[in-house]
Amino acid sequence: MAAQVAALENRLEGAEYQQRLLRTTVAGLAREVGCSLGCQCSRCEGSYTFVKDGSMYCPRCGDREPL
Ligand SMILES: [Zn+2]
Repeated sequence: MAAQVAALENRLEGAEYQQRLLRTTVAGLAREVGCSLGCQCSRCEGSYTFVKDGSMYCPRCGDREPL
């Protein structure tokens, strides 16, 4: 049991580390194309939004809302 918990802790730490790297990469990628990263899409909740020219755009469902 303790070994299973330790294995899960290792996997969780790895996943959190990867998520931090990806979050930094995605934010940098957004900046490269002139956007910034917004909050989670309120319509599909399946992606973060891009913020550009005063509106938020969801790359998953295509929803666009003014800020
Ligand atoms: Zn969406």
